Amino acid sequence: MDETITLGLDDIFPFDCRKALDCFNQCCRDINLFLTPYDIMRLKRNLSLSSREFLDRYTTAIYMEEIGHPLVVMKMMGDEKYCPFSSPDGCRVYPDRPWSCRAFPLEPCVGKAGDGRPLTPMYSVVKRPFCLGFNEKNPPSHPFSKGEMWGFPGENNSLTVRAWLVRQGTAVYEKMNDLWSQVTLSERFPAGGLDKKGIQMFFLASYSLDEFSVLASGQGFLETYSLKNEDIRPILRDETSLYAFACRWLRVALLGEEIPLIAEG
Ligand code: SF4
Ligand code: SF4
Repeated sequence: MDETITLGLDDIFPFDCRKALDCFNQCCRDINLFLTPYDIMRLKRNLSLSSREFLDRYTTAIYMEEIGHPLVVMKMMGDEKYCPFSSPDGCRVYPDRPWSCRAFPLEPCVGKAGDGRPLTPMYSVVKRPFCLGFNEKNPPSHPFSKGEMWGFPGENNSLTVRAWLVRQGTAVYEKMNDLWSQVTLSERFPAGGLDKKGIQMFFLASYSLDEFSVLASGQGFLETYSLKNEDIRPILRDETSLYAFACRWLRVALLGEEIPLIAEG
């Protein structure tokens, strides 16, 4: 059975993961791998696909009533239900692997402050029975006591949660996910969930950036938001800027926030 423990950023995280372990790749099969908009942007770029091609080939969209907006999940493949990017040598999209693959076996504890921003980061460590990255040889009475280290044969066993996340390169993902959280965790987000038109707007701007780019370059869009071609052109040229712009557009067009559509600076 899975065991879950909550940790802060400076708590010691006694864990190691390497190819030599018998469980190698077991964490890449039969999982609910939810993809954030930034994950999708990185993955489709890695694979030289359009957003739509990536979504159609590798994902399923689902609508969860309790969240009120669509989510995108990676399709697992074959009888063994492996992630499509899993290989005997490991992850085929490793430099652009999704946020949750980087953080595993940590998961963020989701919450929001009054202004819609996420709370101080806290993480759950989920000890899955198949994962040998935890030392099972000398389990202490409480392996995750603050500041306590316990004997692990690997070299990474004294990392804090913060150091683990640095090693996994999660900072840019968290920064980008935070922009999206300003939509999904906003107090303005409809309590009963999005309506049909809202779902279409949300899906387009969140998950299908290429199609959003076509919309944002149209004359009708420019006129609606009193934008000039020279305002939008640099945004359309840079995918990260487009991502940030799409999040801002959702705050304006979907949530009715009165903010400039183009952020200063
Ligand atoms: S994207 Fe890579 S790391 Fe993530 S589940 Fe798939 S193969 Fe594993
Ligand atoms: S140690 Fe855990 S995270 Fe690493 S390969 Fe094994 S199952 Fe996956």
